[in-house]
Amino acid sequence: LEGVSSVSDIDPSKLTITTSDTLKPIPPSETLQFGVTKTDHMLVISFDPENGWSAPEIKPYGPISLDPASSCFQYATNAFEGMKAYLGPDGEPRLFRPNMNMARMERSVERAALPSFNSQALLSLIKRLVLLERRWIPTEPGYSLYVRPTMIGTRSSLGVSASDQALLYVICLPTGPFFLGASKEISLLGVSDTVRAWPGGTGCFKLAVNYGPGFQPLREATKRGYSQVLWLLGDKITEAGAMNFFAVVERDDGDLDLITPPLDGTILPGVTRQSIIDLANAHTEGKTPLPNIPPSQKLYVHEQDLTMTYLKRWHDQGKLIETFCVGTAVIVGSVTKIGHDGKDIVLDASKVKHSLTDAFLERLSAIQVGTFPFENWSVPC
Ligand code: PMP
Repeated sequence: LEGVSSVSDIDPSKLTITTSDTLKPIPPSETLQFGVTKTDHMLVISFDPENGWSAPEIKPYGPISLDPASSCFQYATNAFEGMKAYLGPDGEPRLFRPNMNMARMERSVERAALPSFNSQALLSLIKRLVLLERRWIPTEPGYSLYVRPTMIGTRSSLGVSASDQALLYVICLPTGPFFLGASKEISLLGVSDTVRAWPGGTGCFKLAVNYGPGFQPLREATKRGYSQVLWLLGDKITEAGAMNFFAVVERDDGDLDLITPPLDGTILPGVTRQSIIDLANAHTEGKTPLPNIPPSQKLYVHEQDLTMTYLKRWHDQGKLIETFCVGTAVIVGSVTKIGHDGKDIVLDASKVKHSLTDAFLERLSAIQVGTFPFENWSVPC
């Protein structure tokens, strides 16, 4: 048909698997640092405008060779995802709400003008890779296999326009709890002189360009003793590091408001963020009460602008009960200190009678490993 592209999409039936001759020894789980150890294999698929997506290959993990003029090096055409595979007590590897990651990757790829792809085909290949790498999935609580799908522009031309060639690859990294050996509590430094994202920018996409420029402010924040940057737009809270932010505020009637910034284009629509909202609603509707939270304790979710001014006011009024960050890496992490304008808001997590941070962490972890079935969120490979 005229005008209809005949290039091929990703075809899982064309997958070839070349296994590594020498499998790596698996390091003891307690030594795993996030993002360091890679498994034995990776998935690779390439795109060119004449042929479309190539036959997918799973092959030994190793370097890839690219022209130095490649679009990804020169113009940062890079869209990626972060998801985790868990091994439940039944020994079945599972992914957590992977369709949300696939949908987000499609949007990120589109924003970077990289070639579109069938994300369900990619998901079936990711499952195949995870099954092959199953021996790498740690079984200790809090441990999992981090999966990093990545698409990069590989057009080897300095022409300042979309890359019509691409490489899509997926690597897997066994990983432990976010706070391995460190304090379980997150401290944030509110930063507004540099911004991570702005209206009309790329903050709501998972693009590499959003991350590199944050490393210098992060280095400054850590020098000052904070663990992450709380990204502000003026007075408005957006998100923290690579995590979404929540505040728990006590209402006059004793119920709780759970407040998180809205998806206005300046924050990443986190899979964990949406899951917290869904779990809070399920609790309040009486469908699925959260562990250790009295069923009569209602949680009202507000996706609404959240400012430092309000956060300080609620804290001064004694209404700010908890603040926490959520994301695939941390799952749910308590925030106990927020620095801003030379002062700290300090929250004492041990004083909280029914910790929502703990309740969400416990419930999400159980859903992820498959011991607490909920809404088909946990998807077997
Ligand atoms: N914000 C940013 C900037 C992130 O990189 C991430 C991690 N993907 C998150 C929030 C949390 O998103 P998710 O819950 O999907 O991991």
